[in-house]
Amino acid sequence: MDNIVIFGAPGSGKGTYSAALVEKFGYNHISTGDVLREEIKAGTELGSIAKRYIDKGQLIPDDLIIDMLASVYDTMREGPGVIFDGFPRTIVQAKALKKMLQERGEKISVTLNLKVNEDVLMERLLNRAKIEGRTDDNEATIKKRFNVYYTQTHPLIEWFKKEGVLSEFTFRGDKDKMINEIIDKVASI
Ligand code: ATP
Ligand code: MG
Repeated sequence: MDNIVIFGAPGSGKGTYSAALVEKFGYNHISTGDVLREEIKAGTELGSIAKRYIDKGQLIPDDLIIDMLASVYDTMREGPGVIFDGFPRTIVQAKALKKMLQERGEKISVTLNLKVNEDVLMERLLNRAKIEGRTDDNEATIKKRFNVYYTQTHPLIEWFKKEGVLSEFTFRGDKDKMINEIIDKVASI
């Protein structure tokens, strides 16, 4: 099965491009951010821990997110593939993903790195705030999330490169063009 990692800064369009890949290839989709927001809504213990970190723009501790990810992945083994959206976000998570896949005879097929200018990201996130009302989509928390991205998540690009799975896409103002480029790449793996 295909194991696709979709990777990029907050607001880079991971959810949007994931939806396009789900529609085209019938993949299952794991968005760790969405799973955590569901846990918060359902009032679970994991949700209450997660909320403390999310509202501050910080990452949830690696061990919690890794356990959660493996149990969701195991419900999706029958389909054509899985898209990992918002995971991994640290080197520890990336190594855990590699191990989790290896234990199941699987590997990362490709990592799609979405490159978007920071002004565009901020504008998108502030717009989304008006529509979705996410507690972490305010200017101060967004800046913290950018900072967390550059310090903890961006270094993963080198790791993916070394693993030989990195593929990069730069947004130049045309979403449909970007979708087509991504679909072409995924069709070729
Ligand atoms: P977007 O969805 O627009 O790309 P984003 O990447 O910041 O923006 P989510 O992926 O939904 O948003 O994540 C929201 C929050 O959930 C993060 O700021 C973090 O607190 C938590 N979170 C999500 N995934 C992880 C992860 N893999 N490790 C740790 N924390 C996570
Ligand atoms: Mg998202």
